[in-house]
Amino acid sequence: MIFLNGQFMPIEKACISVLDRGFIFGDGVYEVIPVYSRRPFRLAEHLSRLQHSLDGIRLNNPYSNVQWHELIEQIIAQNDGEDQSVYLHITRGVAKRDHAFPDVPPTVFIMSNTLLSPSKELLKSGVAAVTASDNRWVRCDIKAISLLPNVLLRQVAVDAGAAETIMIRDGYLTEGAASNIFVVQDQVLLAPPKSHFMLPGITYDVVLELAAENHIIHEVREISEDELFSADEIMLTSSMREIMAVTRLNDQPVGTGSPGAMFTQLHQLYQQYKATHMRGGAGE
Ligand code: PMP
Repeated sequence: MIFLNGQFMPIEKACISVLDRGFIFGDGVYEVIPVYSRRPFRLAEHLSRLQHSLDGIRLNNPYSNVQWHELIEQIIAQNDGEDQSVYLHITRGVAKRDHAFPDVPPTVFIMSNTLLSPSKELLKSGVAAVTASDNRWVRCDIKAISLLPNVLLRQVAVDAGAAETIMIRDGYLTEGAASNIFVVQDQVLLAPPKSHFMLPGITYDVVLELAAENHIIHEVREISEDELFSADEIMLTSSMREIMAVTRLNDQPVGTGSPGAMFTQLHQLYQQYKATHMRGGAGE
């Protein structure tokens, strides 16, 4: 079951006009919220990032946070699976094709899919990544539905048999095609600072909070391309992939070539944090 413009319906029944500005211009924003044991994870943070994205494209939020919460609860209830990923999508609505903003209601779409956490095998082996030049626009902090550069960049990884493309802008690490990237150098966890050049990841925030609470030495600062290539460990984070070790970069081993001690510790802390959330504690 999905939600489209005020109604719940089976996905097969859902129809969108070909004049929808999402279709014509990619004029919209989205969010993806993981749901564990039917409880949305970090919902307040996802809704606040949604507001930031809407503000960034000058589109009014069609719902209050209370209304979003209710709609999300209903979508979760109407779909199978304890663990789901809820996708929210808002476009500037349907209007005759013209770049200027129309005065029409937005299109609001919500769906939910089964959420599969990373397999034991991948957690044990880590994943491969490749690097590419970050050729996206300079508002990567907006979670825009126009994802063509990210699609092309991710395909670079797929073509190379890798799981992610890590992007470099002007000699510095920005993020992955659909993830944030952390680096470990001399037992220090390094994270690039939030800026217009990367999406402020919800999982990124969780990892930095867990690092601070557990006295893991960490620095939020620019990470050079050289530091990426000489890293002892590299990790990627996202709501779908949680936290994963990157053990090969451009076909070379990262550090020992196996997931390192920092990954093992952070992964364990992340799982404990998730478990607290599922029991109704932190992380809501
Ligand atoms: N950067 C990009 C470009 C992404 O698409 C994602 C996935 N939403 C992330 C980072 C990670 O963000 P989050 O942890 O909120 O899923």
